Amino acid sequence: MNLNLIEKKLANNDLLTRADAVELLKISNQSDDFYRLISIANALSRKEYGNKGYIFAQIGLNAEPCSGGCRFCSLAKDNFSVEYPYRLTVDEAVKAGLDICSRDISDLFLMTTADYPFEHLINIGAKLRKSVGNSIRLVANIGDFTFEQATQLKQAGFNAAYHIHRLNEGMDTDISPDRRIDTLNNIHKAGLELYYCVEPIGPEHSYESLADEMLRAREYGVNVMAAMRRIPVPGTAMKKRGTISLLELTKIVAVTRLVTRPKRSMNVHEPTEMALLAGVNQLYAEYGANPRDTLAQTNKGRGFSIQRVKCMLENADYIV
Ligand code: SF4
Repeated sequence: MNLNLIEKKLANNDLLTRADAVELLKISNQSDDFYRLISIANALSRKEYGNKGYIFAQIGLNAEPCSGGCRFCSLAKDNFSVEYPYRLTVDEAVKAGLDICSRDISDLFLMTTADYPFEHLINIGAKLRKSVGNSIRLVANIGDFTFEQATQLKQAGFNAAYHIHRLNEGMDTDISPDRRIDTLNNIHKAGLELYYCVEPIGPEHSYESLADEMLRAREYGVNVMAAMRRIPVPGTAMKKRGTISLLELTKIVAVTRLVTRPKRSMNVHEPTEMALLAGVNQLYAEYGANPRDTLAQTNKGRGFSIQRVKCMLENADYIV
């Protein structure tokens, strides 16, 4: 791999190609080039983000069997394995949101399953916006929606939507890729900001398929980007496919950073210190339901707290 050429392209502000992305992803995790790659991604983030770090927090508003049917998700109807089902009332959700917004976060994500009533989310978002003012960015992480609904989200006070075309969408999920892409277009057209992620990455996904998602994000002008490895539900067929190592995830994060060129932040999920060496300046704290957890309150399980991710960012010399 000619990393000099990559550095030259970055210095000239030239965009990396799909072929560049695949070549970078093929770098051996045991090679000197691996360390050079993460050093290049780190240097770019330090320079472009000025050492600014971000904490985003997410609340899973409900844990109910979901028709999305994603094989890797503990909330999917055929995999449902969260310890007990629940749905927060509007008032409970607003209270939880206000509590989290009073801490060191910049963005609050409200996550629901695909069948959650849209009107409830609008209600919660509007009440939160009224109470927190404009200091916190509100992000919807929900099922697919129409252009009219995207407009309603914006009017209610949401700044952005987290939405993705997942790896193996339509094969490992019961949702058609076209439907996901329609929603991405609706977000864009309605003037909501799109937050994107290459996910959920497993050992069987080709480097070409990862590169395609990096380029898709870049085409939408995404400024908040992420890469996430798959954490499968215990006992499911997905579990047998395995999990990529954190070293491999760190390499993917570095390549995603360089290819997509998000202007505000780069994230790794779940949080891991080693990716903070590779251009990551943003981490998620998680509360309530979580597709990777079987505990109903993920902050007692896999979810990291705000304090914990703050400490991780600060230990990497990012200023929160
Ligand atoms: S990932 Fe989302 S859409 Fe898919 S099953 Fe889980 S909650 Fe439903």
